[in-house]
Amino acid sequence: MNRLAAVIALAGLMVPGAFAQPAGASKANIVLVIHGGAGTILKSNMPAELEREYRAKLVESLRAGHAVLARGGSSLDAVEAAIHVMEDSPLFNAGKGAVFTHDGRNELDASIMDGSTRNAGAVAGVGIIRHPISAARAVMEKSKHVMLTGRGAELFATRMGLEIVDPSWFWTERRWKQLQREIESERSPAAAALHDSEREPVPPKLGTVGAVALDARGHLAAGTSTGGTTNKRWGRVGDSPIIGAGTFADDATCAVSSTGEGEYFIRWVAAYDVAALMEYGGLSVEAAANRVVHDKLKKAGGSGGVIALDAKGNFAMPFNTEGMYRGWIGPDGTPHVALYGED
Ligand code: ASP
Repeated sequence: MNRLAAVIALAGLMVPGAFAQPAGASKANIVLVIHGGAGTILKSNMPAELEREYRAKLVESLRAGHAVLARGGSSLDAVEAAIHVMEDSPLFNAGKGAVFTHDGRNELDASIMDGSTRNAGAVAGVGIIRHPISAARAVMEKSKHVMLTGRGAELFATRMGLEIVDPSWFWTERRWKQLQREIESERSPAAAALHDSEREPVPPKLGTVGAVALDARGHLAAGTSTGGTTNKRWGRVGDSPIIGAGTFADDATCAVSSTGEGEYFIRWVAAYDVAALMEYGGLSVEAAANRVVHDKLKKAGGSGGVIALDAKGNFAMPFNTEGMYRGWIGPDGTPHVALYGED
């Protein structure tokens, strides 16, 4: 679908962030939708060079996933490839560039789900695996479990031959400064606010990455990878590695990846709720995703967004924050990216 068709589809539906694939979707109806986190993303705060970097990296991620789908690869492979690009980029809160815990460490979470089998895998609280999404996939495919945590997950990933890195691989100055600022404002909110105008722009606190894909065989997959929330303590784990909250996929309904305040996404079982509204309520993927994000989560006070894709290639990217890094690519291979509410 080209940009004009997308605009027409968007106008016709009158639903922000929702797109419909043309009727008569064929076997080659491959689609990939990605997000790079939702939060206070405002054009007025975004240096032009940083915006260019975000757009370019989202395009690179879309192209990586699309290349897999275009050569007949699986939706799981496409999701993994798209997420690798964002995990390796310091721009996003996943892999390199992940936020820091209160103790100054990076504890990463990820999950993946196969819509054709409802197999799933997840890791939580890992600090030495370069690509946590691949560790989640290894848990799904090479163990009888769904979720592994901490040291055990790291041992498993090492044994499975995944790439292991020194914890310093994940360190970035921007995120380190963000932690110092959080700690400072915890200690003295007034003093921290006074200095705010002098600071260089910091990346949004949120910034998880995720992908949902439909392959040429009509199978869906979803994946999510994150550093969690800045200044998290006591082994806090958010929604991203939790199947049904941060990630869900079932060919019968949809594939979903969430981003936002994880505690709300867990309590509202956000990703699965989109699928449940489709299955039991007969809602379209657009209506279901919008209901969860703009109605249920918003009323509860949970900020964030989701990307959701059905097996016909219809998708939605709703968020109740100022912006969400996001993008999609269809069979024609033209990448589309957006950052703010208005684009
Ligand atoms: N949902 C993630 C978490 O709570 C954070 C995010 O999406 O940015 O860990």
